[in-house]
Amino acid sequence: MITRFAPSPTGRLHVGNVRTALLNWLLARQAGGQFLLRLDDTDVARSTEAFAQSIRDDLAWLGMVPDAEEKQSARMARYADVLEQLAAAGHAYRCYETPEELEIKRRLLLGRGLPPVYDRAALALSEADHADYAARGVAPHWRFRLSADAPKAWDDLIRGPSHIDPASLSDPVIRRADGSWLYMLPSVIDDVDMGVTHVVRGEDHVTNTGVQLQMFAAMGAEAPKFGHAPLLTGSDGALSKRLGSIGVSEFREKGIEALTVKALLARLGSSLPVEPVTSDAPLIERFDIGNLGRATARFDEAELLGLNAKILHALPFEAVADRLPAGMGAAEWEAIRPNLHTLAEAATWHAVVTGPVHTDVADEDRDYLAVAADTLAALPFDAGVWGALTAALKEATGRKGKALFMPLRQALTGMDHGPDMAALLPLIGREAALHRLTVR
Ligand code: GLU
Repeated sequence: MITRFAPSPTGRLHVGNVRTALLNWLLARQAGGQFLLRLDDTDVARSTEAFAQSIRDDLAWLGMVPDAEEKQSARMARYADVLEQLAAAGHAYRCYETPEELEIKRRLLLGRGLPPVYDRAALALSEADHADYAARGVAPHWRFRLSADAPKAWDDLIRGPSHIDPASLSDPVIRRADGSWLYMLPSVIDDVDMGVTHVVRGEDHVTNTGVQLQMFAAMGAEAPKFGHAPLLTGSDGALSKRLGSIGVSEFREKGIEALTVKALLARLGSSLPVEPVTSDAPLIERFDIGNLGRATARFDEAELLGLNAKILHALPFEAVADRLPAGMGAAEWEAIRPNLHTLAEAATWHAVVTGPVHTDVADEDRDYLAVAADTLAALPFDAGVWGALTAALKEATGRKGKALFMPLRQALTGMDHGPDMAALLPLIGREAALHRLTVR
């Protein structure tokens, strides 16, 4: 199995691209195959190396490093060769219509209630006509000739049996008069040359597949399997503009884990539930492209944040150790992780453990805290110290519930909420705890 993710380096990846990349990555990883990054940079004016690098960086952050990278701009000579072969076999032809002329033809057809399909007038040109254009310095653009006899149906990995009627389509322009390439043919040539077996992409490419199937056939190549994923919508259910601007930098800023992004996008719009997994493994193992539905999938940022918290609450120390504040050990991680929404918040809780903390003690709690300090000083400072302390204070002062616990939490942590004190107190340590309880 060889899959590819084929973004144009004309911008940063957005969440829809990330999902397409993920689906291809999951397919390849599950099958022990290869996942390629193909940079569709034929649009030289808009493609930049900076965007290409941001795409590599984003994939690396997501933990989806491609097995190989290809660049269309490095393959222009190959595309020209194939075009020559296709032309010789009658699959491609030269045209000279200006955009204005094409627009007039289109309007005439529409005015007559007909589909605006190119009339193939250029097929009638003789070699003398072509020579005439050349003599006048007019370069041709090239179209691929669709055929009613070529394959037009495929069994879509997601949509099931699908087909496109070629009669409804114009022969696509594949190369412009200035020699630049449109997306359609280079993509097919690459898929053939790179041995791509499965193409998973957005539903917006379904019509292209009808055309590209014919191109594979014209090249004498077997077409890969195709899967077209329904597009993502925003939380309002609309194909929102906002989604186009959400990407990896946004996830990072918000403190979302790469794993969270994968866990949500791998299951969104599928029949499997979104789960707070603690590694890629269950996503890869349980992935089945056939589980994706045909309805648009709703990407909800609030769901992402909620899932991020759940994943953090379950992540083992080893999975995060290299990103935790220096000095935070496994016991501390386990004590604080139920309180995290983002990993960055670990620093806040580490500061609570290591101190110093500051609390304004209410007058009515001064005596109580003095008793607490004395009581704590007399107790063995072991794993059960919080239970022993609160039991003894309850007995000695008659306090219970919030009045019993809250002044202790506030004095010991400087906050009125936070991790379980039974886990936290041993981490704070005896000396620091006594110091924090001592009313100044
Ligand atoms: N560059 C194309 C895109 O980003 C690739 C489509 C494909 O996967 O074939 O839409």
